[in-house]
Amino acid sequence: MHKDLQEILISGSELNAGIKKLGARISEDYAGRALTLVGVLKGCVFFMADLAKNISIDARLDFMMLSSYSGAQSTGVVRTILDLKENIEGRDVLIIEDIVDSGLTMNYMLQNLKTRGPKSLEICTLLDKPSCRKANVPIRYTGFTIPDKFVVGYGLDYNERYRNLPYIGVLTKEAIEGIKTCR
Ligand code: 5GP
Repeated sequence: MHKDLQEILISGSELNAGIKKLGARISEDYAGRALTLVGVLKGCVFFMADLAKNISIDARLDFMMLSSYSGAQSTGVVRTILDLKENIEGRDVLIIEDIVDSGLTMNYMLQNLKTRGPKSLEICTLLDKPSCRKANVPIRYTGFTIPDKFVVGYGLDYNERYRNLPYIGVLTKEAIEGIKTCR
């Protein structure tokens, strides 16, 4: 375990098992449809890659990058930094997110992508922190529901650190000095 962590919340093998199940459900639900996975960078990278490998039907992959937070504090403002490359009009779009916390980021994504005329638009998140919700967004697929703790690893960062940990962990008090939960 990394020295800055107090606990591993979800191990690598638990992540693999959960993502395998999600992939099977998505493959079944979207069979015969024109699926586009839209990953929200950078947090989605490992989840998107592993999930896509567990989806057995044809799927296109595209990405957006948004800015909403600096460090651990929410500014509450969401902006598009990198937009989709492909046209999603008429396609079945599944947004792939690392974690839904306040829900403001997903709320922005839904409003933004809806205007482009997708046939359907749903959310798939690896982690859900329901206790922190400010915007009520419908989540179709959830990997793991977690308590109100600031987590890192498997794509999730704290000031760009810890993304490459192969599990989801909780930082120690010393490492999270200044982080408010329910950001
Ligand atoms: P929301 O807009 O739902 O509050 O937050 C979504 C984004 O905030 C996520 O994509 C993620 O980048 C960041 N975030 C929310 N909670 C956490 C957390 O516990 N750990 C980390 N590393 N990022 C978080």
